[in-house]
Amino acid sequence: MRRKVAAGNWKMNGVKASLGEVEALKPVVTGGCDVILCPPATLVAAMVQAAEGSGIMVGGQDCHWNESGAHTGDIAAEMLADAGAGAVILGHSERRADHGETDDMVNRKTEAAWRAGLTAIVCVGETEAERDAGTTLDVIGGQLDGSTPDGATGENTIIAYEPVWAIGTGRTPTLEEIAEVHDFLRGKLVARFGSAGEAFRILYGGSVKPTNAAEIFAVSNVDGGLVGGASLKASDFSGIVTAAG
Ligand code: PEP
Repeated sequence: MRRKVAAGNWKMNGVKASLGEVEALKPVVTGGCDVILCPPATLVAAMVQAAEGSGIMVGGQDCHWNESGAHTGDIAAEMLADAGAGAVILGHSERRADHGETDDMVNRKTEAAWRAGLTAIVCVGETEAERDAGTTLDVIGGQLDGSTPDGATGENTIIAYEPVWAIGTGRTPTLEEIAEVHDFLRGKLVARFGSAGEAFRILYGGSVKPTNAAEIFAVSNVDGGLVGGASLKASDFSGIVTAAG
């Protein structure tokens, strides 16, 4: 049995005053699923404090593949761990699009996350043009292979399937389309890692809301969600945490 995950990606949103949302979320975090919140790097340490004793894990949204050095504006996995983070989102489609991140870079970042003791949340997903062209499975299969190092396990890595066209748009694939991709990803993980491939959590992300979370989380091989907009307010995210368990 894989434990479900409700993961929130605050993206470039949030200041200290936003940490009240963590306080408001605590009563629904009852241990039935894993809850991970990924604020901007400026809030990681403060969110760790705010979340103390709640079971909420705090994560980063990116890390460099090096431990330190001349990389202005970047953040190392070790720095996130030092601030109290337990996870990091890697290869989000916004990073791939805005910062030219390639599968190879995500692969190296994943190794860096593990070295720092962080769980890597590795994102894959097709664009609308790729779905229309019928290449969805080829695209995400290639991203999965290229972005996950051979040392990946269900303990150190979570996979997030996020169709780019569903992120922040209010549009979602049908439940059948979600099942097709998640079953495909599971098959690839098992083909590569043997029975250990069954242990990876595969999250769906893209316009998850309190109103659609339960039906999405019930789909075959969907082990929870990676949630953007609806993770910013405890009033929304609490319904998603409850749907995850
Ligand atoms: C995301 O960016 O990871 C995401 C899933 O965003 P949203 O839930 O807002 O579509």
